[in-house]
Formats: sequence, C-alpha cells, structure tokens
Amino acid sequence: MSTMEIRIFGDPVLRQRAHEVEDFDGSLAQLAADMFDTMRAAEGVGLAANQVGVLKRLFTWEVVTETPEGDLVPEGSAIVNPVLHASSEEIQDGDEGCLSFPGLFYPVQRPLTVEVAYQDLGGAAHEVTLEGFLARVWLHEMDHLNGILFIDHLAKHDKQAALKAMRERDQPAPPRPGSLLLGRGD
Ligand code: ZN
Repeated sequence: MSTMEIRIFGDPVLRQRAHEVEDFDGSLAQLAADMFDTMRAAEGVGLAANQVGVLKRLFTWEVVTETPEGDLVPEGSAIVNPVLHASSEEIQDGDEGCLSFPGLFYPVQRPLTVEVAYQDLGGAAHEVTLEGFLARVWLHEMDHLNGILFIDHLAKHDKQAALKAMRERDQPAPPRPGSLLLGRGD
C-alpha cells in the first residue's frame, strides 16, 4: 500500500485545470492504485488527481452499498478523461465534503442525474448514467479536474464560514481555557 499526500485548500494545484490523459500505461495504473490507497486511508468516497498534486484528468471513487441481503459491497473505479454529456434540470440537495477541506460539510445542490463519457485505465471508452449520490460524487470530482472546488457552489454565508474555518486551521491552536485563567493571575 502506498498513500500520497492530500493537498489542502490553499495549494495552487487545486485551482489548476488537469490535462487530458494520453498515455494509458503502467504509470497511470500505478497512480490510480496509489490514489485508491490514499482515498481509502482518508475514508473518502472520491479523490481527484489534482488532490495528490498530479494534473491528470483522473479520479477514483468508491462507495459501499448494502445489498437486499444485508451484505456490504464496495463499488468503485478509476475514471479517466471524463466528459459531462448531459445533466438533469431536476436537482438534489445534500451535504458535501472534500478531502482538501478536512472536516467541513455544507449543503450543495447538484443535478439529480448525469450522463458522463469517460475512459478506463486501459483507454476503452464508456458512457454511464448516474443518479443521486453517485452523480454528486462524480460531479464533485470532475469539478476538481477543472480547478473548481465545492466551496464555489456554496451559499455565500456557508462559503465565508468555510474560508474562515480553513484560515483558522492554519493558526496555532488557541491556549486551553485553563491556561487562560492561569495567565490572568486568578
Ligand atoms: Zn473534493
């Protein structure tokens, strides 16, 4: 297992457009495998190559679904050069987070259904229709490949809260209440 460093908001690579993948070689497969390890270790449902500092149009996704029999089945894949072909006018509401904004979740509206063309790690072309949570995950990851982040979709007050939380994340931890009291000479 090999994990990569996940880039956090503020890293310029998250605002850059990733480039089309042209070489479907072993290094692409290795990158995807490392991204799977990184995504699982961080307990994410999706990870775009930008988030590990690589400007390639590649993302991984994995969700665990429960069968009618109660078995938990992981489902996921590596998606290369995705292109959004259609999205429904009908929207869905739901909270969204991002591994580049650790611990933050805000409501984001997304189309309920999308049609996406993409290639697999071998370069074969596919087209898929996705609905609900999977449509949300794929749209979030495809945004990353264009340098778009989920905060760009937030209501103004949520975006301000997210930016403030990320700014404060960079500050040294405030003194604990106990040491404040001691400092006052109480
Ligand atoms: Zn993200």
